Amino acid sequence: MPEGKIIKALSGFYYVLNHDHEIIQCRGRGVFRKNKVNPLVGDHVVYQADNSTEGYILEVNDRKNELIRPPIANVDQAILVFSAVEPDFSPLLLDRFLVLIEANNIQPVICISKTDLVPEDKKEKISNFAQDYKKVGYEVILTSTIDKDGVQVLLPLLQEKISVFAGQSGVGKSSLLNVLRPELGLKTDNISSHLGRGKHTTRHVELIEVGTGLVADTPGFSSLEFTDLEVEDLNYCFPEIEEHSKGCKFRGCTHTSEPKCAVKNELETGEIQQYRYDHYVQFIEEIKDRKPRY
Ligand code: GDP
Ligand code: ZN
Repeated sequence: MPEGKIIKALSGFYYVLNHDHEIIQCRGRGVFRKNKVNPLVGDHVVYQADNSTEGYILEVNDRKNELIRPPIANVDQAILVFSAVEPDFSPLLLDRFLVLIEANNIQPVICISKTDLVPEDKKEKISNFAQDYKKVGYEVILTSTIDKDGVQVLLPLLQEKISVFAGQSGVGKSSLLNVLRPELGLKTDNISSHLGRGKHTTRHVELIEVGTGLVADTPGFSSLEFTDLEVEDLNYCFPEIEEHSKGCKFRGCTHTSEPKCAVKNELETGEIQQYRYDHYVQFIEEIKDRKPRY
């Protein structure tokens, strides 16, 4: 039986992209109905073809993860777009996104955008942030859609994967996608597009082919609350804290008030950045009282 990935779901049809890059319009009438599986964009499915363009889905393979907003299954990677300026780079917001992405078992790529707008006196600060996050182990790329910087680095990272873009509004997500796929002509954030976006317009997420990769046309992680996270999960969302926590005296050390904490020791050596640690502590507090603070 042929297989493929759902790239769009609309009015009861699922559009399945197969290995020959053909799109088959499928209805869902297979076994999964009995198992109450609701096929999602990103699902890997087995289908039966009626002809070269139509068919029906027989089976939905197990998912590795599932995003709620937008609804996409099997997301491999999140491209976190953070502008260097306009709006200013915010490590606090970046860490918040990183925690949510790590908690969903998704690989993050940090993309610092609008580098062409960075004034001379802010260049060093931005480059230091980039170094800090690289040291933690993250992929960091600097991009500009004006001089096309970094796009040639981003493109290969998208291949063979399902990626979503994430980040605040206005950071340049649509602009980047437009550079990657100029024929899409996605609306970039200007006043007229805001006015044109009616309240009742339902947005359907769609996966777009970028070479052999698939990229969601709607940004992910719009809700930044830690609703499903526990304090002990947070350790795993900060790779450098997790790494050093092996040296803590107490098992399950939260690196806050416990003595002989290896994580706190590393703050003095500079192995762990103070601001990353401060965000970690802030998120612990937030999880404890479950009230988002922005
Ligand atoms: P989105 O809301 O994240 O999708 O952001 P947009 O792609 O709509 O971009 C917001 C604004 O930033 C638009 O006016 C873009 O033209 C501008 N912009 C995006 N990327 C860059 C960049 O690399 N350099 C400069 N100078 N402007 C950019
Ligand atoms: Zn500790």
